Amino acid sequence: MTDRLRRTKILATLGPATDAPGVLEALFRAGVNVVRLNFSHGDPSGQARRAAEVRIAAQKVGLEIGILADLPGPKIRIERFAEGKVSLKAGDRFDLVASNDAPPGDASQVGVSYLGLPGDVKAGDVLLLDDGLMQLQVAEVQGERIVTTVLNDGVLSDRKGLNKQGGGLSLGALTERDRELIGIAAKIGVDFIAVSFCRNAEDMNEARRIAREHGSDAALVSKIERTEAIENLVEIVEASDVVMVARGDLGVEIGDAELPGLQKKIIKEALAQNKVVITATQMLQSMVESPLPTRAEVLDVANAVIDGTDAVMLSAETAAGAYPVRAVEAMARICLGAERQFQTETDYGKAQRNLERADQAIAMATMFLSEHIGVRAIVAMTESGGTPRFLSRFRASAPIYAISRHDGARRQMALMRDVFAINFDSRGLTPREAARGSIRVLVDAGLLAAGDRVVFTSGEHMETHGATNTLRLLEVGPDGRASGLGEL
Ligand code: PGA
Ligand code: MN
Repeated sequence: MTDRLRRTKILATLGPATDAPGVLEALFRAGVNVVRLNFSHGDPSGQARRAAEVRIAAQKVGLEIGILADLPGPKIRIERFAEGKVSLKAGDRFDLVASNDAPPGDASQVGVSYLGLPGDVKAGDVLLLDDGLMQLQVAEVQGERIVTTVLNDGVLSDRKGLNKQGGGLSLGALTERDRELIGIAAKIGVDFIAVSFCRNAEDMNEARRIAREHGSDAALVSKIERTEAIENLVEIVEASDVVMVARGDLGVEIGDAELPGLQKKIIKEALAQNKVVITATQMLQSMVESPLPTRAEVLDVANAVIDGTDAVMLSAETAAGAYPVRAVEAMARICLGAERQFQTETDYGKAQRNLERADQAIAMATMFLSEHIGVRAIVAMTESGGTPRFLSRFRASAPIYAISRHDGARRQMALMRDVFAINFDSRGLTPREAARGSIRVLVDAGLLAAGDRVVFTSGEHMETHGATNTLRLLEVGPDGRASGLGEL
C-alpha cells in the first residue's frame, strides 16, 4: 500500500457533456465519488434515466457512487425576450413587470415570474441579473411595474436569474415544484437531496418531512446561498446532514469579498456540529473551455482542502464543459497534493466536550488511540454511517474503513472525507467472526496487510443504529486474519 488514498471527495454535476457513452465510467475512474443531478434543468424522466445509468456504470467500475438531487428552489428569473436577448446601456431605463401576462421583453422591459417582487424592493435597491453581470438600480415601484436604471452596459438574455444585493427577498425556500421533485427524487432512490436557497431550520425540516413521507432515507443538504442563511447558520446546520458552501449565489447576494471568510466559517460550523460539508462553484471554471486549470483555481481547490472541506464540487466543468474527465483528474490531483503537503490538525478540542452518547465516547477513544499508538487504519462496523461520520470529523491521520451492509449508507459515506465504505454483511456472526471477516475483506481489497494494526469499533447488536459500544486493538496476522493485540 504505497499510494495514499485521496481523502477529500469529489462531487460532479451531470449534464449534456457527461451523457456520451463511457463518460460516466471514465469520470468514476478519474475520482468522482458523488454525482449531482441538477433538477433546475431537464425533465424528471431525464433525471431518472441519468440516475439509472449512474447505478449501472458504478457497478461496472466497482465503486460506491452517491447520487445527489439538487432542487431548483425559488430562483427568481426574468421571462423571455421577443428576440431572445437585448443590449442595455448604463443609464437606460429598463422596467421589470411582475405579471403572468407581461408581453415578450424588449429593450425597455421584461416580465418576471415572481409576482411578489414589487413588494420586496424599494427605490435604491440594486438587482443583480445573470450572476451580477447585469445590474439594475430600482428607481421606483409602480404597482406591478419596477422602474429601474441600468448600471452597466451588457447583454441580457432569456430566463436569467435575479438576486437582490444584500438579500431580503421574502419568498420561501420550498416551492410547489420542489415538493413534487422531492417525490420524484425519492422514487429515483437518490442518496442526497439538496435544498436551494434555504432560509432557516424549518425549510430543512420540511424538506426532510416530505422526503420521509415518500419513503426516502436521503441525507438532507442545505445550500448556504442567501443572506438569511448566514444569519441562521447554526440552526440550519443543526437541521442538515450535509451543508454546501454555494459560492455562486452567495457571492452574488453578499458580495464576493465576503466569500473567503464565509467559506471558512461555514466549514468550521459544519465540522463542529459533526456534519459533512461541500465546497461548490467555479472551482475549476476555466476548464469549461481549457484542458488545464489556472493557478488561481489550483490554489482555490487546495485551500478548500486545507479549510477542512469534505468534498469539492464541479458544476459546468463536468456538466457542460469540453473536458469533464480532465477536470475530475485535475481536482483529484490537487486534493492529493494538498493533503500530502498540509496534514490537517486533529481536532482534540472535541474530546474536551461533554458526550451524551456511548458511540460518540467510543469514537473519541478510538481517535485518541489511533493517534497515539500508530495504527494503519480505523475499522468501523456501522449500520447507518453515524460512527464513521463522527470519527471523520476529527480530521485525524488514519483512514477510516467503514464496514456496512447497507447500500444507501455506503453511498452517503462516499461524501465523507477520510471514510472509505466497504460492503460486508456481519449478521449472524459473533463479534470475533465479524472482526475477522471484515479484516479479511480489507486485506483482499489490498487496504490492509500482515502486521498492520487497526483500531476496530463495533456494536454488540449490529442491527441497531447508534449501537457502537466496543473498541478493540487488532493486528493483521500473517494469514490475513485479525488477531487481538496484547491482552485482547
Ligand atoms: P447552483 O448552486 O449551482 O444550483 O446555483 C450552487 C451555487 O449557487 O453556488
Ligand atoms: Mn445556487
